[in-house]
This record gives sequence, structure tokens and C-alpha cells, in this order.
Amino acid sequence: MITALEQYDPQIYELIRQEKARQSGAIRLIPSENYVSRAVMLASGSCLTNKYAEGYPGRRYYEGQQVTDLIERMAQDRAKKLFKADHANVQPYSGSVANLAAYLALAKPGETIMGLALPHGGHLTHGWRVTASGRIFNSVQYGVNPDTGRFDYDRIAELAKKHRPRIIISGATAYPREIDFEVFGRIARDTGAYHISDIAHIAGLVVAGIHKSPVPYADIVSTTTHKTLRGPRGGMLLCRTEHAEKVDKAVFPGLQGGPHMHTLTAIAVAMAEADTPEFIAYAKQVVKNAKALAEKLLEHGFNLVSGGTDNHLILIDLRNKNVPGKKLAKALDRARIVSNYNTIPNDPAPPFNPSGLRIGTPAITTRGMKQDHAKQIAGFINKVVENIDDESVIEKVGKEVLLLCSQFPVPDHFIIPNKNNPGPLQDSDGLIPWLF
Ligand SMILES: *Cc1c(COP(=O)(O)O)cnc(C)c1O
Repeated sequence: MITALEQYDPQIYELIRQEKARQSGAIRLIPSENYVSRAVMLASGSCLTNKYAEGYPGRRYYEGQQVTDLIERMAQDRAKKLFKADHANVQPYSGSVANLAAYLALAKPGETIMGLALPHGGHLTHGWRVTASGRIFNSVQYGVNPDTGRFDYDRIAELAKKHRPRIIISGATAYPREIDFEVFGRIARDTGAYHISDIAHIAGLVVAGIHKSPVPYADIVSTTTHKTLRGPRGGMLLCRTEHAEKVDKAVFPGLQGGPHMHTLTAIAVAMAEADTPEFIAYAKQVVKNAKALAEKLLEHGFNLVSGGTDNHLILIDLRNKNVPGKKLAKALDRARIVSNYNTIPNDPAPPFNPSGLRIGTPAITTRGMKQDHAKQIAGFINKVVENIDDESVIEKVGKEVLLLCSQFPVPDHFIIPNKNNPGPLQDSDGLIPWLF
């Protein structure tokens, strides 16, 4: 396949080759990024991209759905099993669309939604004013306690009592600690609100049982499929049977047209991968690596928001180091360490040049790195911070990074052994008789 691309469009081919080299020759610490397996990559680059499948299995608006119906049902069944949910919608194009669909399933435009503010670690789509979520709905935002970096559940409950939102959103994009979804569920119940939980970042930790699942405590659970869950880029909604029809209608025809069947196919593969002891071991290692990285950063005198991490990510408060987040992120990038600058709770600096750096361990763990390597990476970060204006040191760190990367090849042929492998499909599974 890649040869055809090389012949037809050598320029794009060359750019893909360069991106591949970049991903292989860098330590990727952006906590929302990962490397997918060869199997997921193949499924998402398959002929399923050619197929329109508006509607749902058994209820489509185009013919020729003999195969797509089977694939989508498989993806739904695997998602339901993995997350122990009654209903799964695997069609959302991304986490952002999944969130909007969840809100529109349970609330009308103009009603109040309450989510975590962006500068406190919430996602844009949790009601931030520039997004559709903040414009379609009346958005009330809660924050973390700036002294502890953690949720103050009593204050969130007070805010909910005051504003009586239709929807309370739990979940975050830059929160390094365990989230008590049960308490969020209780706050919602006590104030007559629906509880929507967005586990985009931690879905992989949830399926591995390392982070408590919100499924028993939320009306709808929203997630991406490509972060710790290690699938293709996409979104997913899980809910109890009572909300199933509203959720499905909100996705299609509410917000989307035809589902991206190639993505949905790859999601099915990723779900099978996540349903293995190997994946559970992976997710456990992600957290061990994050804790080791945090520990070593603390030893180097870094301040971490909330003092450490329970999950896959770390938020560094750089104020005592006198290096702005953006300047550090750019210097690290030159040293082949890829991260993102981020606001810290109650950041005194402006959002386009904030005081924090966000890092995480999902991608390095997929490559096979362990605690010792995480600690080594903390050392690299410290060296760049201490020599932020010395290009020669930054270049030297880059060479050390390359050496470390060379010991952990990118999982281009990354195959997770599948002990649940059911073998080939049987006639009774619904193969199309006239095709074969
Ligand atoms: C990443 C993320 C999303 C958005 O996902 P996209 O696929 O980028 O649209 C939504 N919510 C949270 C909490 C996220 O971290």
C-alpha cells in the first residue's frame, strides 16, 4: 500500500516517512497521545473508508450493509463488555462531538450545564465560552481548589445547588488525580441534574480497573478512543438503556452523517486488544511510570500541581523555575521531548504563555519504557530547564534522547497476543452467501 503512495505522491509519502521518523526519534510525553498497534492501523486504513452507513445496524439509509452491520454490532458488543455498559454508540467522530451529542441528548439549548473550567484542567467542550458547548448552553464552571490542585466536592455541590444545572460534567483533560465519580453522581442526583462523565483521557485506565469506572454513577459516559485506550482517533458514548434512544438520535441524525466505518472497524480491533491481560499490564505500567517520573521531578525541585499523580499525567508548576511553559515546551521539543505548555489552576500568567507544562506516560509505556527510563526522562527535562538558554546542552540532551529511543523501537509491528481470538467467522455469523 505504501509503495503505491510512494509512486503516486512522493511528496506526501516523504512527509509521512518524516513524521514516522519524528515519532520514533522523540520521547512523546503529550498525555493524550499514544501509538496504535499494527492491527489498529491496518483496520483504519482499510476499504471500510469507502462505505456509507448512515443509520444504525439493521436500520440504514443505504444498501450494501451486509458487512458494516456485523462490524458495528461487534464494536458495540465489545465496548459494552469492556465498560460493562448497557448501551454503546461507537459512531461519534471525536470526543468533542461525543460530548455535544451527550449534552443535546439530555438538555435543550439555553439550559444550564456545569463543567470544569479550561484553565483548571477541564476540556474546551465542557462549557468553555468560545466553543459550541459554551454558546448553545448556559455554562457555569467549577474549578479545583488552587491550594491543593484537587476538587473540593463540597464547593462543587454548593455551586450545583445555587445554579441547578440540567447537566453536571465530570472528567478532565489536565487533572492528575483520581476523580470520585460516585460523589459527582450524588451531587447530580441531589440537585436534580443529569451526570455526564467524560473519561477521554483515562478510558484505558478505567477498562483496566486502575481508575474507578463512572459507568454505574453517570447517565452518559463519553470518551475518546485514541488516548490511553490506544485505538484510532474517534469517540464513543456509553449509557443505560433508558437513555439509549436519545443518545443514538443525538449522534445521528442530530449531529453527524455517515459514520466513519474504517475508524469504527479499528475501534472494534482496539476493544479486543484492550480486553486482554496484556493491556491491563500496560495500563498499570503507565501509572507506575507516571509516578516514577513525578517522584524524580520532585527530587529535582519541581513543583507539581496536587503534589504528584494518581494517573497517567503530570502537571508541572514552573513558577519556581522561572521558565515560562511555552519557552520550555519549545526547548524540550528541540531536545526531542514532546510535551505541551498548559495553564495551572489560578495561573497568574496569560493563557497563551502559561506557567505550566503537561506531560504523561501513555506513549512511552507503549514503547516498553519502564520506571528507570521515566526517571531518566525527568533528568533530561531538568537538564533542559537548567540550561534553557544554552543551545549546545539542549542539543546534547537531544542526542541522549535519540539513544534512549533507539532501544525502544516504535511498535510498527506491534501485535498484542489475543487469547480470546475467536478464529475465523462461521457461516452462521452472517457471511454473505453470494459473495463466496
Ligand atoms: C481529548 C478530550 C476530548 C476531545 O476529544 P477530540 O477527539 O480531540 O475531539 C474531550 N474531552 C476530554 C476530557 C478530552 O481530554
